[in-house]
Amino acid sequence: MEVGALSVQLRAEQVPDLPLPASPAFDPRAARRDFPILNQTVHGKPLIWLDNAATTQKPQAVIDRLARFYAEENSNIHRAAHALAARATDAYEEAREKARRFVGAADTGEIVFVRGATEAINLVAKAWGRQHIREGDEIVVTWLEHHANIVPWQQLCAETGARLRVVPVDEDGQIRLDEYARLLNPRTRLVSLTLVSNALGTVTPAAEMVAMARSAGAVTLVDGAQAVSHMPVNVQALGCDFFVLSGHKMFGPTGIGLLYGRREVLEGMQPWQGGGNMITDVTFEKTVYQPAPMRFEAGTGNIADAVGLGAAIDYLERIGMPVIAAYEHSLLEYATAGLSTVPGLRLIGTAREKAGVLSFVLDGCRTEEVGRALDREGIAVRSGHHCAQPILRRFGVESTVRPSLAFYNTCEDLDALTAALHRIRHTLVRRGH
Ligand code: PMP
Repeated sequence: MEVGALSVQLRAEQVPDLPLPASPAFDPRAARRDFPILNQTVHGKPLIWLDNAATTQKPQAVIDRLARFYAEENSNIHRAAHALAARATDAYEEAREKARRFVGAADTGEIVFVRGATEAINLVAKAWGRQHIREGDEIVVTWLEHHANIVPWQQLCAETGARLRVVPVDEDGQIRLDEYARLLNPRTRLVSLTLVSNALGTVTPAAEMVAMARSAGAVTLVDGAQAVSHMPVNVQALGCDFFVLSGHKMFGPTGIGLLYGRREVLEGMQPWQGGGNMITDVTFEKTVYQPAPMRFEAGTGNIADAVGLGAAIDYLERIGMPVIAAYEHSLLEYATAGLSTVPGLRLIGTAREKAGVLSFVLDGCRTEEVGRALDREGIAVRSGHHCAQPILRRFGVESTVRPSLAFYNTCEDLDALTAALHRIRHTLVRRGH
């Protein structure tokens, strides 16, 4: 396959309706040099990291920012009145402003720091859900959801007597909008859907689905965990009430993520955890809470990693999300073409709009065995159920092999994957796996 077929000289005018990127030319090999972990061998082979949907690697700029925070700024925030507390507070609040800009929120009051997408969804289920969901109400999710966007709603339904309803997908893994329209009714209180499926890579028509939910009078949550590393997002354009993401899936640290909540919705919400930081006054009789976002950030938060997430956002904005989206689109097409040459390979998830993920099974080979064989070639992919069992079962499988992309992947990485799969299939099928 012709590596040169994919030109990475992307021009800004190829990406309509999006802000001009800082630099119109993108060189994935230069970007890769920003990630020290990628410069190593595994089992004697150069590491090829294709497990980006599980977590992304960190650029030196993020690693340096974390080190600088601990070397020069570390303090608890907001409370103490000294120089380091002021520095740490400034760094933390600057990160909140960067996050606001990154997701296109109107106000930093709408940005709550949490542990990740899972905690953000649980916060909404426990705080907003317990306040607003009653017996007989309906919560709508899609068949594509990660367990993080299923289990908290199931728990809420069990507590309240509400009903979970599921939007089906077609044979390509695309949302059945006709079925979705039929599911919406006056009992629908919440629609919670992913923007990109972690198991199939489907990009959902989230803005349209949010608009339909709003017409039905429902509150909406968009799970952006798999989207934000691949494409520009804007919560106001999406029109959603809540939006969640995990820092570690967008080149930031683990243990930090965001809940965006539209101001009017957040302001009406009671906190889910109580403690320090989230109060303005406490007596034994009564506690007065801070306004959002502080009322949702009880206790000492993950200050350093929030600052690290801010550095990841700076890094991404320097490249430009539209540039990343255009490059990865070509990379995904290239990868799909490569995989289609492997005999017996069945791609699961063939939606027209996809991002970042190629899920497949290989005829006659167990997925764990394929994953282990790729690992021996230095190629890191995930094989398993990807915390999305319902959608895999929808396609009749319990697990898939899942290479997943980031902008530091190259056509050479994908050529190595395709070549390895040809060899592995040959060996495994011969051995009768
Ligand atoms: N939603 C989606 C679509 C995901 O892919 C993931 C992580 N795989 C999550 C939610 C949960 O993210 P985290 O484990 O970082 O909380």
